[in-house]
Amino acid sequence: MTILPDSFQKQLTALRETYTQQLLNKLQQIEDLWAERHVNWNNRTLAALHRMIHNLAGSGATFGFVTLSDRAFTLERFLRTIMEADSPLTLEEEAQVSALIAVLAEATQPDPLPSSRLDACLLSHPSPPLSKNNRIIFLVKEDPVLARDMMLQISYFGYTVRTFSNPSELRVAVNETIPAAIIVDLVSVDGGFAGTETIASIQHDREVPIPILFISVRSDLAARLLAVRAGGYAYFTKPVEISALIDKLDTLTAHQTPDPYRILIVEDEATLAAYYALTLEQAGMLTSLVTDPLHVMQPLIEFRPDLILMDIYMPSCTGLELAAVIRQLEAYVSIPIVYLSMESNVDKQLIALSLGGDDFLMKPIHPDHLVKSVTSRAQRSRILRSFMIRDSLTGLLNHTKTKEQLAIELSRAQRQNLPLAFAMIDIDRFKSVNDTYGHTMGDRIIKSLARLLQQRLRKTDCIGRYGGEEFAVILPNTDGKTASLVLEELRSGFAQIRHQFTGQDFSVTFSCGVAEFPRCPDVASLSDAADRALYTAKSRGRNQVLLAGNA
Ligand code: GH3
Ligand code: MG
Ligand code: MG
Ligand code: MG
Repeated sequence: MTILPDSFQKQLTALRETYTQQLLNKLQQIEDLWAERHVNWNNRTLAALHRMIHNLAGSGATFGFVTLSDRAFTLERFLRTIMEADSPLTLEEEAQVSALIAVLAEATQPDPLPSSRLDACLLSHPSPPLSKNNRIIFLVKEDPVLARDMMLQISYFGYTVRTFSNPSELRVAVNETIPAAIIVDLVSVDGGFAGTETIASIQHDREVPIPILFISVRSDLAARLLAVRAGGYAYFTKPVEISALIDKLDTLTAHQTPDPYRILIVEDEATLAAYYALTLEQAGMLTSLVTDPLHVMQPLIEFRPDLILMDIYMPSCTGLELAAVIRQLEAYVSIPIVYLSMESNVDKQLIALSLGGDDFLMKPIHPDHLVKSVTSRAQRSRILRSFMIRDSLTGLLNHTKTKEQLAIELSRAQRQNLPLAFAMIDIDRFKSVNDTYGHTMGDRIIKSLARLLQQRLRKTDCIGRYGGEEFAVILPNTDGKTASLVLEELRSGFAQIRHQFTGQDFSVTFSCGVAEFPRCPDVASLSDAADRALYTAKSRGRNQVLLAGNA
């Protein structure tokens, strides 16, 4: 959920009110607990008192109670030395604690300045613009037949292409619809670009330039300069390798829909946890809150966080213990854990880090600092994790992860009583493709099939590179017949892509075997059946999709 600034302000005010209301109550509890020392005083009461003071110190400043935080912090440190000494309270110590509690109880008013500064800072983080996944491409190309041909090729990869025969038509269209990119393929008599001035002026009128990709027969610097001056973003020489063009379009459009970072917040002080959540959501992230550390497992598995923000001092177990536990689970070894704590002692910080944490942020934290630290770590964590589970050539899931994912999806299907389809794809006669056109060309074809699968399948489908030129697709909530139709469409699309090789072009096909749950009840029978169907499809002449059991 992305919170709009207006409702964000309201929620922040509401949180602050909740905190203020609870504050008097908390101070009363502290006084009551301290009064108990005459009847029942032991290490546990001392620890409980320390925890309450600790929480005030950590949360007060965040909600504008800076003085309260400061005083609580002084008291917290004093209590800690008493706890560490582990000997009965001296009269002197008792008097000092009483005095510190008394001044603490007076700090019930927020300090106006710093809190308003915090607000201002928060509002400097507007929500990212709601960018729809723009996949509209404008293509300017004189020859209508060639234009249509290129349009079809690009459309296979999930783009909507509109063609224009000259830059003036383009200018009119751009005023109505903003495309994700413009491809310009225009040649004038002298071999340069026709209409570059018009293109440049379209670009000039815009606040946010539209990426323009030029296609030309020329590869000299002068021609490239011309393109750059007209606002060119990329330059391709003919014949255009379609997969390279799609790569460029993909990088241009991919950044428009980043999945929001998912942050798991483990913090026993509920109001403070809600405040962190609000701050991070305001910056476009998704959050999940855990106020009881013993309940961390379920969100860890189901919410799949990119990063864990971990309080240290909590009632049932400490953040350090929890971090150590999480680090012992192989699946979560790479999730960054960032401690949010008041611990300013560097030695203790280092111990915390050695137990599996990645960073230390001090409470109270400036919202801007929180957002920036979390963003940069979540970003890196995602990249690093993708290296572990993804294939480097195609960015698809690797073999191990695909099999793991099949088990996960299958158990979900069993639980929810829904169908599931599993497809295995193998490119036809790929050895001869490599032999004829070279390994580099072979790699490009593997990439173009990967792209095609990514573009055309649903977000919930899982696509893996199973082996060299073999792919696997998991289609949750899809029966075998429907899956076969989807793959048939992909088969026909892939077969129509024409790959360029020094002037000549050629096409490649694939064969596919599909199996379905519940007909195949487990992972082994699903993959066996898909594999056998694929083998049969090959033996029947390749370039076809076969559903297991329908042979
Ligand atoms: P079939 O239609 O029976 O599948 O014939 P095929 O030639 O594709 O046979 P097979 O699937 O057994 O061979 C796959 C070939 O794909 C073997 C290898 O040369 C090639 N290959 C595997 N991985 C890669 C890769 O990453 N890049 C390239 N360029 N080629 C690869
Ligand atoms: Mg705490
Ligand atoms: Mg093979
Ligand atoms: Mg093959």
